[in-house]
Amino acid sequence: MKKWITGLSLAAAAIWLVSLPEGTLAQCAANFWMTRKQATLASGFVAYVLMVAVMVLALRLSWVEQKLGGLDQAYRWHKWAGIAAAATMFVHWMMEQAPKWLVHGGLLTPPVRKHAAEKMASSDWMLLAHTTGEIFGYVMLFLVAVAVLKKIPYQWFRRSHKLFALVFLAVAFHSVALVPANLWLTPAGVAMVVVTLIGVLASVVALFGKIGGARRYRGTASALQRLPGELIDVTCTLEKPVSYLPGQFAFARFEGMKDAHPFSISSANTIGNKVRFCIKALGDDTRRLVGTLCEGVAVEIEGPYGRFNFVRGGKTPKEVWVAGGVGVTPFLARLEHLARTQETLEDKTIPAVEFYYCSQQDNALLQRVERLCRQAGVTLHVFDETRQGSLTLEKILQNTKTPAHAELWFCGPRGLGDALQNAWRAMGLPLQQFRREHFEMR
Ligand SMILES: Cc1cc2nc3c(=O)[nH]c(=O)nc-3n(C[C@H](O)[C@H](O)[C@H](O)COP(=O)(O)OP(=O)(O)OC[C@H]3O[C@@H](n4cnc5c(N)ncnc54)[C@H](O)[C@@H]3O)c2cc1C
Repeated sequence: MKKWITGLSLAAAAIWLVSLPEGTLAQCAANFWMTRKQATLASGFVAYVLMVAVMVLALRLSWVEQKLGGLDQAYRWHKWAGIAAAATMFVHWMMEQAPKWLVHGGLLTPPVRKHAAEKMASSDWMLLAHTTGEIFGYVMLFLVAVAVLKKIPYQWFRRSHKLFALVFLAVAFHSVALVPANLWLTPAGVAMVVVTLIGVLASVVALFGKIGGARRYRGTASALQRLPGELIDVTCTLEKPVSYLPGQFAFARFEGMKDAHPFSISSANTIGNKVRFCIKALGDDTRRLVGTLCEGVAVEIEGPYGRFNFVRGGKTPKEVWVAGGVGVTPFLARLEHLARTQETLEDKTIPAVEFYYCSQQDNALLQRVERLCRQAGVTLHVFDETRQGSLTLEKILQNTKTPAHAELWFCGPRGLGDALQNAWRAMGLPLQQFRREHFEMR
């Protein structure tokens, strides 16, 4: 990801550089103010290209998801491209402001203007573009800070994040109005037109709430079971069938909920019009939902998303699954699918599976997991942290003679996932065989 983001920034900078009129670089070498002007323009262009990439990554496009390995991954790219854009924008702003401060402080001689009229050369549009850029630049930096500071509640982040589409339109106006006229018929000018069209289109799609619009399904909560441990098992009947792979997730918004939330689909009737979710009260919205949801309530589903779908990269003869807490949900779907497949097709291509499930004995989902594992021929190891201590990769791999020939699928708490992934890396095992759903999107 770092390489791609750096590569995109360097490519944008190179396009800008090759588009400069002849002799510009020589002038830069001789004149600080010329250098400052060109550096300001180039950094602005790089930040703008990164911002367009951020906008596109926010659209939940299926080809982007496919390329990046799932929506959770696409959001990680979105986040880091956004941080890179904000950092480059800060550099752009400093290039503009710092020399002015130095002039005010008497540390730098102001540029010599050939004509008094040159001072007035900025049209009203350009002045407006300057002011717009400055104001919305501050707004954008504020929004990025809200997005990365996890102490700020998720709901505030979600609400404020929606403003980005508007901010982008203001930044697009600032950028287009301030591109020097002589650059429009160069590669930088063409790139500017293309990225602006893409970015504006992405903003309009976001502003009109059309992100994921083609994958939305309406329905009702048709069956509901309340389970101990602030958990609900809810089946939704949709107006039309939805097609998904076991392990994928969807955004669900039940009537009365503030937002749509991502939940793994825990059933495996992958082409029917029913989807089942196991939802745990992990925050305000889900706590309210778990406490108040009843049958017949309307729901809107958007999906499916994600590549935690057990479509295997390699042809490893063994799979090791690790689930913690409610992270068991994608495995429930896969188990249900395997149980059916074994009953009907006796598919011999399925690898042997060892399933490590971190759960206490009184867990409401444990019986379902045990029954499905028996039916699917999956070896289950229930791991109770309170009695057995922390689950480590060493303990997990003790039944796997050749870990290099196994794929590990993990879904659960972030801390456990990080620890297992680090240990996997430290053992020199192939990282592409460590498959993981990132249960956090911020
Ligand atoms: C891919 C994926 C699959 C998931 N599958 C399940 C599942 O099968 N069962 C289950 O119980 N939970 C699942 N979760 C977690 C579930 O989405 C969160 O618990 C829920 O969104 C919390 O919302 P809240 O408002 O109650 O909590 P808050 O206290 O508001 O948020 C707690 C955390 O949940 C996340 N979150 C909150 N709102 C959203 C949102 N609208 N979109 C994305 N993330 C959000 C944020 O990381 C936040 O920090 C899944 C999460 C992801 C990303």
